Amino acid sequence: MKFEIVCFDCDSTLSYIEGIDQCARAVSLGVEMEMLTNAAMNGELALEDVYQQRLELIRPRAVEVTALADIYIKTMVDGVREVFATLAAKGAEVHIISGGLRQAILPLAAELNIPVANVHAVDIYFNADGHYIGFDMDSPLARSGGKAQVCQQINPTGKKMVLVGDGKTDLEAQTVGVQVIGYGGVVRREIVAQQADFYVDEANLTAVLEYIL
Ligand SMILES: [Mg+2]
Repeated sequence: MKFEIVCFDCDSTLSYIEGIDQCARAVSLGVEMEMLTNAAMNGELALEDVYQQRLELIRPRAVEVTALADIYIKTMVDGVREVFATLAAKGAEVHIISGGLRQAILPLAAELNIPVANVHAVDIYFNADGHYIGFDMDSPLARSGGKAQVCQQINPTGKKMVLVGDGKTDLEAQTVGVQVIGYGGVVRREIVAQQADFYVDEANLTAVLEYIL
């Protein structure tokens, strides 16, 4: 193993979907949301400038977040189960670090045997009727630079660490000494292809293992 700690982005890395865009489609706001999400992931807009805007427009209900959790699992990228099983067998510490909604990602993490404590994402809040009332605005993952901050929290002693992801926000981990494997198997983003330490654009995620093991 070249790394002791291995982290994965979720949207467009473990699953083919962008969770928030998927929620937007359910309320017919899909096109607008995709433009905002893409702008953030390509580094054209800061994440904090789109995060609240997207959720305030969509206002996802608890039922929609539960449905989203199912879709994350059904649209898992090819090779994900094999990658996680291989890393578990090698004794790697594995985390999911996502700007997505935590409650929607936890069931996918459970499928992959990742403990709840190793899932880092943004909490969403509902009222007793399951209607949206807000999200954790203090979460570093809802703003630029947040993935770097979470990487430092996970790894205070500076173990060798790698993060696999498709977006601009994933590249930010490089600022705290984390190596980044850009993953373009779902969406190829030029900024990531150019700036990541390694880049993989095979459709099957197992292609990242040669850089990790
Ligand atoms: Mg992503």
